[in-house]
Formats: sequence, structure tokens, C-alpha cells
Amino acid sequence: MSKNADVIDIYNGVVMPTYTPSLVLYSGKGVTVADVDGRKYYDFTSGIGVHTCGYGNPAIAEAIAKQAAQLTHASNLFANVPQTALAKKLVELSGLGGKVFFANSGAEANEAAIKLARKYGSATGRYEVVTMKNGFHGRTLATLAATGQAWCQEGYDPLPVGFAYADFNDLESVKAAITDKTVAIMLEAVQGEGGVNPATQEFMEGVRALCDEKDLLMIVDEVQTGMGRTGTMFAWQGYGVQPDMFTLAKALAGGLPMGALVGSAKVADVFTASSHASTFGGNPVAASAALAVIGFTEKNNLPQKAAEMGRLLIEALQEKVDAYDQLLEVRGKGMMVGLVVDGDAKVLVDALKEMGLLALTAGPNVVRFLPPLVLKEDDLEEAIDMISDALDNVYGN
Ligand SMILES: *Cc1c(COP(=O)(O)O)cnc(C)c1O
Repeated sequence: MSKNADVIDIYNGVVMPTYTPSLVLYSGKGVTVADVDGRKYYDFTSGIGVHTCGYGNPAIAEAIAKQAAQLTHASNLFANVPQTALAKKLVELSGLGGKVFFANSGAEANEAAIKLARKYGSATGRYEVVTMKNGFHGRTLATLAATGQAWCQEGYDPLPVGFAYADFNDLESVKAAITDKTVAIMLEAVQGEGGVNPATQEFMEGVRALCDEKDLLMIVDEVQTGMGRTGTMFAWQGYGVQPDMFTLAKALAGGLPMGALVGSAKVADVFTASSHASTFGGNPVAASAALAVIGFTEKNNLPQKAAEMGRLLIEALQEKVDAYDQLLEVRGKGMMVGLVVDGDAKVLVDALKEMGLLALTAGPNVVRFLPPLVLKEDDLEEAIDMISDALDNVYGN
């Protein structure tokens, strides 16, 4: 038996079956990972959008090691230097003149955004948040309620009330979902789990205008899109539309768990002393890693690289769409790319894995590519050869 099979056999006996892994990863370097049997793969999942700066990035590893030896944790009863510096940096990068709340995951950052919106609305008796169908905001009860997808809500009733769902990229539908209880509109600039759907320019601008008109808070969930993936540090910057708050997590701390809610000046002091908290939020090791991520991202122009390499990837996939009847569409922004197939996307993801390329699904019929932003052109070419071979295997040529 392979080591992969050995570990997975034990795993299945002791880890709750929410995931169904078929590979056991052992190490990662740059844009590749290796499994316990020594097979190497291009990782076009980036650990689900996490490793924008590549696996084993020396600057991040060094920042983590140094801070780990100095102070791993001190609680938020005390301030720490890396957290303070990170908050300052995020406020500067956002240009929203506000403040940050730190959490440990995307769901928690979104939970904080929802709680802040409710606190903001409490004075006027408003609490409803309008979210988008096919959106994804996390797995806690409130963020699950915010997630407008039936498949992940099933079996968890009763979910928290106070959410209404509108059609993405349909401003009339958003208007129709607003009541006198509505306090916020929450959306992803590019829907990730929901199928890699970029918001249109008109939609982002329209949501902003609606929020201004009705004193609603515009919340952009940047958990998957943030830190350069879509071609700008935060995806909303690519639209020139400023949210009232946005959330970060996946790529923020280069592989360590960290979430952040970045608020504009308008909402900077809505949370007051003791009104929200997290034991580990803004942990100095995670914060040091995040500072290294931002430093590396800026120094290497990763947002611009994401835009350029993403364009090449989309072009290459468009050729495949033109060549295969079973491929319907390629869409995305920067290095967040979806290939829509006529049928089960999982079949193609499995075939890609056999070729040595790890990819994700996003819904039943979209193959999702989230490569590390440090991907070089020759690696992309090799990956595209693998995609060609996988397509030949699955669909014939
Ligand atoms: C992954 C994701 C989340 C949830 O983040 P977790 O860290 O898994 O809790 C929320 N929103 C978006 C857009 C995501 O992609």
C-alpha cells in the first residue's frame, strides 16, 4: 500500500468525514507541493487561495520563526507590536481611514462584519443583511445564514434570522430585497465557491449608490479575493468602489490562520470596549506572517503579476473552450479563474490530478484555478500542457 493510502485509512477512522481527501501532502516549495509518496504537483489551489506568495516563502518562514521564538501569544488584554503594525498597514493600504478588528478565519471576520452592521443598525431598529445567491461567507451559523446556497444550509435549522438573498449582478433584485429593516449589503467582488463569478462594474457601482442612498453599509467579503489575487491588493480597488468595510483571511497571513475586518472611518468606532472579542485574534505570529506577506506582495508587484499571468491562463483556457464542445466558458479576474464544463467538474479535476496539477471545483460544473501569484511563465506553460493532456483523456481530442 502507498503511504498516501496508509494515512488516509487512519484519517478516515479518526477525522470526522466533512472532507474526503485522496492525497496526503508532505511539503511545499514555490508553486509545487509533494505528497507522502514523493510525487510532485503544481498546486493551482494554493491551499484554497492561501499561498499567494508561494509555499515555503523564506521571508514569511523567517518572520514566523523569529516571532515564534520571541512571543507567540499574549492575549488582547495587551497590545503587541506586529498586530499594531499590521493594522496600520491595512488601514493605509485600504485608504478608507478606518480601523481593523482581527479574527482567526474568514467566517469569523465575516461574523464580525455582520455583528458590526447589527450594532450600527441597532439605534434605528435595523438588522437585516442582504447577501447574494451563490455567495459564500463561511460555516458558522450566522455566516451560513449569510451564504445564499441551500447545499450547505441543509440540516442546520433554525439558522439565525435577518438575512435576505438577492441575485448577483442584478441591481433590481437587490433593491427588491431591501426593507425598512435592512442595514447592510454584503457581497464578494468575485464569487469564489459559487462558481467564479466576477461582479460587473455597473453592479458594484449600483450597490455603492444604493448604500449611500439608504444609509446601508456595503460589506465586501475579500476572504478569497484579497491580497492581490484579482490584480489589485483588494478586489474592490479594481472597481474603484469603496466599501464601508471588507474582510480578509485566506491569503492574509501566508498560511497561518488569521482573519481581519477592515472598517472605514464611518464604522471605525461602532464596536466599543468589550462589545466583541477574540482570544487569538491578531496573534503576533500570524500578524508577523501577514506583514511579511504584504511586504513580499508589494516588493514583487504580485497584484500586477496576477493580472498578467491570469490573462495568459484565461487566453490558454479560451483556446480549449473553442476546441471542446464540453467546455462552455472561461471567466474570472486575475489569478482567480473558472472553467465551466458541460457535466461534472470533479471528473476533470481528478484527471488534472493524475497529470500532476491540483485544481478545485466551484459548484458542480466549474473547475477553479487559484495558482500562487508567484507562478512563472514556464511553469504556466507546463501546467497548460497538463491541462491539454487531461482534457484529451476526459473528452478525447
Ligand atoms: C473561504 C471563504 C470564507 C470562509 O473562510 P474560513 O476561513 O474557511 O472561515 C468566507 N468567504 C469567502 C469569500 C471565502 O472564500
